[in-house]
Amino acid sequence: MQPAGPGQAGVVALRIAVIGAGIIGVTTAYELAADGHEVVVFERRQSVATESSFANAGVVAPGYVSPWAAPWMPIKALGGLLSPDSAVRFGSGTLGMPGWMLRFLAACTHSTHQLNRRRMQRLAIYSRERLEALTLVHGLEYDLRKGYMTLLRSKTDTARVSKGLPVLQELGVEHQLLGPQQAREIEPALSPHTPLHAALWLPHDLVGNCRQFAHAIKSRAQERGATFRFGTDITSLVNPGQRNSGLRISWRSPDDAPKSRPRGEETFDAAVLCTGQVPAALARSVGARLPTASIWGYSLTAPVRQRDGSPDPGPRSGVMDERYKVSITRLGQRVRVAGIAELGTAADVLGDAPLRTLYKVLEDWYPGAAELAKVQHWKGARPMLPDGPPVIGRAPLPGLWLNLAHGGSGWALSCGSARLVADLLGGRSPQIDPEGLGLERLR
Ligand SMILES: Cc1cc2nc3c(=O)[nH]c(=O)nc-3n(C[C@H](O)[C@H](O)[C@H](O)COP(=O)(O)OP(=O)(O)OC[C@H]3O[C@@H](n4cnc5c(N)ncnc54)[C@H](O)[C@@H]3O)c2cc1C
Repeated sequence: MQPAGPGQAGVVALRIAVIGAGIIGVTTAYELAADGHEVVVFERRQSVATESSFANAGVVAPGYVSPWAAPWMPIKALGGLLSPDSAVRFGSGTLGMPGWMLRFLAACTHSTHQLNRRRMQRLAIYSRERLEALTLVHGLEYDLRKGYMTLLRSKTDTARVSKGLPVLQELGVEHQLLGPQQAREIEPALSPHTPLHAALWLPHDLVGNCRQFAHAIKSRAQERGATFRFGTDITSLVNPGQRNSGLRISWRSPDDAPKSRPRGEETFDAAVLCTGQVPAALARSVGARLPTASIWGYSLTAPVRQRDGSPDPGPRSGVMDERYKVSITRLGQRVRVAGIAELGTAADVLGDAPLRTLYKVLEDWYPGAAELAKVQHWKGARPMLPDGPPVIGRAPLPGLWLNLAHGGSGWALSCGSARLVADLLGGRSPQIDPEGLGLERLR
């Protein structure tokens, strides 16, 4: 162990492994390196942000960060069982996850939902502040745009969303309920042919390219001494339990032929697991069974069709169709449409019905805006605990910390979660109350 670097008074510098280089892993590596620790990141893939963080919607809207386990969800889920075009869909694998479903339903009570929503939103507001601070300090570029609008097609949609406005008020999230004309002034390319009853405008919320941010913050972490080892799959974590013995981490390359697979073992003072879900091979050594599930979502991304002399046909920032729960976001010269919640399907099987819904919502609001000949389809997992919030804090295995299970809000929660785990690991008082974010919530 070495003393902390200048400006990091009170933090003892440690040698720390970060496992996983999605958005949660890279931001964690950055914060730990910024605190003066020696950081090594292990990632089984060949680059950062190749799994869940690859092509998400890009929305950072703290007022919308909320557990999916909510009082209205059982009815919605029933809709998914009855209609193939619902925003929630079930594959045959759902039958294999009864434990997760039962815990999810148990967390749908009003009081549990409220409690977990407060925990998530506290973290989300902090996280957006941290994201903005890092953007400013380092001049990070990741197609950032300001403003997020929920499109309300009908009186019923408007009434439902209006019920949530006191919560935004309470959280101090600036918002405005707009009429259709005002909404079209802010987002002028919205189709006049699709009925718009009202819109909820959140002027301070953000849209940005999560993957691009991950690459940018990785460079800043490297400038602070962090190293990245790609193609390294962590296969075991052991703490021999002797004083100062540290945490022994074994890895191997997942890409080479099995016989010649390079493998290795190294000892660290601590490690942070940022793998979205606890990998099956590590569950026993971590000492905790985290009941996470992959809630699959889809996105399509295409260049915005530019016509000389015509106004820009795409969104200026981000909109979300409340009825379909599908967002359309502007990422530089591209448009991304994302949404759908699918349970119990395979990672590599892209369903037709979910993609049809994304195309429909794009066509309804921004017809002809995208060059669909160049479209890219993506299916990604939301690593989700049944009750909603992520887990950030100590694992039962001494020396191991957890920063995972961020569900549908990992991008929005990343910078705050990373700062929080770095403070807890470094023995500093965190800037937000971590109540309910540790493993104790799940016991
Ligand atoms: C369609 C869709 C839209 C979304 N939209 C938004 C949005 O608008 N806003 C938002 O905030 N969130 C959104 N999300 C959620 C967000 O994308 C995720 O919460 C986030 O990407 C999770 O990040 P992560 O770093 O935990 O996981 P990942 O990005 O999956 O990273 C985990 C990494 O760990 C590595 N790994 C796993 N096991 C091992 C091992 N044994 N050894 C070494 N490496 C390992 C993996 O290879 C992977 O790179 C969306 C998700 C989907 C699917």
